[in-house]
Amino acid sequence: MGFFDKFNEVRKKISEVEANLYHGKQDFLEIYERNLQLEQEIEERTRELNLANKRMLTLQNILDMMNSAKPLHNVLDTIVNSIQGELGYVHSSIMRKEQDEKGFYLAVAAEAVNETIKRADDILETPIQARRLAYVPDGMFARALENKTIVQSKDIAGSLRAIMPDLENSIIDKVLTDKSIRSIIIIPLYAMAKAFGVFCVFSSRDELAESETDFLSTFAQQIELAITIADLFEKVKAQAVTDGLTGLYNRRYFEEYLKKEVTRAKRINQPFSIIGLDLDFLKKINDKYGHAYGDLAIKAIADVLKSNARSIDTAARMGGEEFNIILPGVKSDGAMTAAERIRKAIENTHLEKVGHITASVGVATFLEHSDNIDEILELTDQAMYMSKRNGRNRVTLAKPIDETSWQELAVSAFLDILGKRKIPLSEDFKKDLSSKLIASEPQSEVLYSVADLLTQVYNPLHVQGGVKLKVLAAVSLAKRFDLSKEEIDNLRIAMLLYDIGNLLLPQEIFKKTSPLTDDEKNSIKEHPVIAAKKILNPISYIQDVIPIIESHHENWDGSGYPAKLSKDEIPISSQIILIVDAFFALTEQRPYRDKMDPAAALEIIKQDSGKKWNAALVNEFVALVENELK
Ligand code: GH3
Ligand code: MG
Repeated sequence: MGFFDKFNEVRKKISEVEANLYHGKQDFLEIYERNLQLEQEIEERTRELNLANKRMLTLQNILDMMNSAKPLHNVLDTIVNSIQGELGYVHSSIMRKEQDEKGFYLAVAAEAVNETIKRADDILETPIQARRLAYVPDGMFARALENKTIVQSKDIAGSLRAIMPDLENSIIDKVLTDKSIRSIIIIPLYAMAKAFGVFCVFSSRDELAESETDFLSTFAQQIELAITIADLFEKVKAQAVTDGLTGLYNRRYFEEYLKKEVTRAKRINQPFSIIGLDLDFLKKINDKYGHAYGDLAIKAIADVLKSNARSIDTAARMGGEEFNIILPGVKSDGAMTAAERIRKAIENTHLEKVGHITASVGVATFLEHSDNIDEILELTDQAMYMSKRNGRNRVTLAKPIDETSWQELAVSAFLDILGKRKIPLSEDFKKDLSSKLIASEPQSEVLYSVADLLTQVYNPLHVQGGVKLKVLAAVSLAKRFDLSKEEIDNLRIAMLLYDIGNLLLPQEIFKKTSPLTDDEKNSIKEHPVIAAKKILNPISYIQDVIPIIESHHENWDGSGYPAKLSKDEIPISSQIILIVDAFFALTEQRPYRDKMDPAAALEIIKQDSGKKWNAALVNEFVALVENELK
């Protein structure tokens, strides 16, 4: 090969390489570009996957929760909080469509907790969740619900104004400072083919993608499912007549059955008895062996009741460790025999680990001890407490009300009051006082000291022993006015309870060191009487005491309250309370004034003779105190 040939060959190769290089470069560029595209796609798909994953987890959460039989509002709270802050949803809530005499409205059923809502609650006098929100026909909420469609709007302020028309624009602007909220989305909620309300989300996006619509619909379906299940659950629970742990009848059934039995007993004039039973020392069993063994003890009692009750007897678990049995047509002697048989059978039951258990039992008989069923239930309870007091593991027959001492009535009344959830005292304090009250035979001293302790809750300057002095003074005064023993007993109980309503007043009022404002004075004036009635009305055996307490702020000249009674319209016992209370208040220390000596206090009392109090009453009272002071 000549040089030229060689040259040509090399050149050819070079152009081949060049061509290859060129193609390679082209390929490279193509690949590079494709890679970029792919990367973007992958990024997108990853985002989508993450999103889908989050959605999956959110839905999974809800499904988990629905298996846990929590109350509906808890489930809904968890649902709204689970979407909150995820997937660009700034806030979410569930609203119920409700109806009252004024028409339809919306009420918040659940609301996610976040900064916007916290700020809104601060700014608005009534927080959104406590409001009656307007249901505007043709508004976006109504449109979503009635057309069963998802509705989106970018007019956030407008949407809020529509449901809270009483708010000024400036307030809405103050609430809506979060600029990440771009649109509001309303999703209709239907449960059991009925309109329930709406699911409402604030989104950080202007637009609603198709996949998002699907997601929100699926999410709403889960909410609907939760509502439906909770609804069914409630219905089934409301129909239940037996107790899950023991299989005995529950309280609801017992109460209904009792009503029928009362009607029947009255019609044929035939008594029936109630046995009330409370397991002894269950707390110790729980503490020592665990709750499961406590449950075992409760079940053991139920088994004894099942095998020892006659077929016409109805045994029920009233709650906790408390049982009642109704014995139709049985008088108290028969009921005592049955109760004793049950007590023995319980005592003879042997439980694994725990050993023997015992119960305290009370018995009362309708038409024998009282013809008022509430009284019978209370007498059963009192008799049961008497069994506890006398050493447990025993049966006690109720005493008819008119043979019950005032101390027993007062102890029961205090126990009833302390047992109430509404009284804002610590559980430990209530327990302390209760055990004090049931520790021994009902004694005046115990009652006085419990009343002192309760008084100290709203009057920290009250001194131990104060109540006793007041009761003794009231009784001495009553004797000068020829009150019967029964009236005096009622007065004693009234003296212990007349200020009990103070327990429901805001505590700050009592701690004030400055004189009270007129508003505060009025609140202190009116409320305790109302509150006392609220507390005492359900206690049937002290019904004769309530009118005395109700009128203990009425003045002789008609200038008192609440009924502006005057002169002899006011029960003498109420007048006695008013004057005794005034005297002792003047001689007690107050945050805003010093205590007075008795003589000075009497002078003040005398000034109101014929106005606040009857002149005759003042004379007797002055004589009484001066006699004491000698
Ligand atoms: P007493 O002899 O005075 O009746 O004492 P006690 O411990 O039985 O009574 P107390 O009323 O002081 O405490 C009752 C306890 O029973 C408190 C509560 O935790 C427990 N208890 C209530 N219901 C149940 C239940 O269903 N299972 C279990 N294991 N314990 C329960
Ligand atoms: Mg017990």
